[in-house]
Amino acid sequence: MRSQKKGIPMELEFPTQKKLHLVVGDITSLAVDAIVNAANETLLGGGGVDGAIHRAAGPELLAECRLLGGCETGEAKSTRGYKLPARYVIHTVGPIWCGGSWGEADRLRSCYESCFKEALRLQCDSIAFPAISTGAYGYPLKEACKIALTAAFQICCQKELLYPKEIYLVCFNSQALDAYNEVLDEGLEVPLA
Ligand code: ADP
Repeated sequence: MRSQKKGIPMELEFPTQKKLHLVVGDITSLAVDAIVNAANETLLGGGGVDGAIHRAAGPELLAECRLLGGCETGEAKSTRGYKLPARYVIHTVGPIWCGGSWGEADRLRSCYESCFKEALRLQCDSIAFPAISTGAYGYPLKEACKIALTAAFQICCQKELLYPKEIYLVCFNSQALDAYNEVLDEGLEVPLA
């Protein structure tokens, strides 16, 4: 299904016709139906990808976020995209890495699952994710990439699931892309959803 050299963006097409893309760049520039924000529990903005999304979307995004009343770790809430090329922003709160024995993996998995549920509810054909929790929240990159890829594969394998049809895993730098490729090279075990 794939032929790929390390460090190169790629596209995988599944027998379900769903597509998974690994891309390098700034998520705020993507014209997809929804981009995912790695937010904090207040949903009132922060650094990293959160700051970039708020800057690109404009102040109306913060105004809508104020109405949401925050978000629990592992859950997701959506807003419009305002000045972004994306129609929606799905805000999720990743776990802060505390060594790995505090349910971090379950919570990170839950972020992806919650975002996919929201994308289905909003009938988004395409959704783009940053590598949630791998910046300020300190989640080990490769472990986080494995969780992201497993969650994405589960969606891509489900023919009867109408949305989303295209998933973008966005790498902000080459380390993230290398980590995704390493996980793919080692092989993934994808449990049936
Ligand atoms: P968290 O607090 O969940 O760790 P961060 O924003 O600090 O969130 O980092 C999450 C990931 O998003 C990191 O891998 C970081 O490199 C990446 N990132 C930062 N800015 C952008 C952007 N504009 N587009 C895509 N990814 C980004």
